[in-house]
Amino acid sequence: MDIKLIRNATLVIEYANKKFLVDPMLAERGTYPALPETIRQDTFNPLVSLPTTLDTILNGVDAVIVTHLHRDHFDDIAKNVLPKDIKMFVQNEADAKEVENIGFRNVEVLQQNTVFEGIQLVKTKGEHGRSEELLKLMGEVSGVVFKHPSEKTLYVAGDTVWYDGVQEEVDTHKPDIIVVNGGDNLWSLGPLIMGKEDIYEVYKAAPNAKIISVHMEAVNHWILSREELKSFSKEKGISANIFVPDDGESYTF
Ligand SMILES: [Zn+2]
Repeated sequence: MDIKLIRNATLVIEYANKKFLVDPMLAERGTYPALPETIRQDTFNPLVSLPTTLDTILNGVDAVIVTHLHRDHFDDIAKNVLPKDIKMFVQNEADAKEVENIGFRNVEVLQQNTVFEGIQLVKTKGEHGRSEELLKLMGEVSGVVFKHPSEKTLYVAGDTVWYDGVQEEVDTHKPDIIVVNGGDNLWSLGPLIMGKEDIYEVYKAAPNAKIISVHMEAVNHWILSREELKSFSKEKGISANIFVPDDGESYTF
C-alpha cells in the first residue's frame, strides 16, 4: 500500500491496486473563516496550500471515503470537483442523504463487512471529543479499516480522541498501520481529536504498528505541532513507530 498525506485529513491511499481519496478538503489556502470558539480567529482555513494539483489528486480515484461531513473533511471544492458518479462511502444514512442531495449518485453507507473491488472495508467507531456536550455538538464520526489478502491491515481512525472504542478497534483488527488525526485541535469545550498523550496510548495498544499522525497544522484550531510530536516521540523512545508526514509526503508499506 501507499499512503500519501495531501493536507489535514485528506489522504490518497493506494491499496490492493485501488486508489482511495479520504476526507477531501480541497480548497485553496485561506478560503474559509476560522472555526468559532477556537484559537487563531484572525486566520483563514485551510492554513496551508495543497502540496499538489487538484488534477493529480483526483486522477484515477476509484472511491472516496468521507468519515464525516465537517468542512475540514469534505468541503465545497470537493463537492464541486468530484465527479457525481464517483463511488462515495459515508458513515450513515443521514450523511448518505446529504451527499446524495448534493448530487452524488453512487453513495454507499460503510458497514462492518463492506467489500469494494475485493477489499474489505470495515466502519469503525470514534468520539469527536470527550464531554457529552461536545460530542453532541460535533456529531457522529467514523473511521475505516482496510483488509485484503495481499496487503497489511490499515486502520484510519478519523476524527476521534483516544478512548476505549479505539482500543477495541485495535484489539479486533490488529492493524499493522494506523493513521490517527493528531493535531490536538481544540474547541472551547475541549480537544476534538488526538493529542500526543492519545497517540502514546495508541502506541501502547499497538506497539508493533506504524502510526501515522495527520490532521496537523492545517486548520486554525490546531495545538500540537509536528515538531512537538516528533520530540515527544523521541523522548518516549517510540520515534521508530510514529510517522509525522509533511503535506505531500507518502509512505509505502
Ligand atoms: Zn477534522
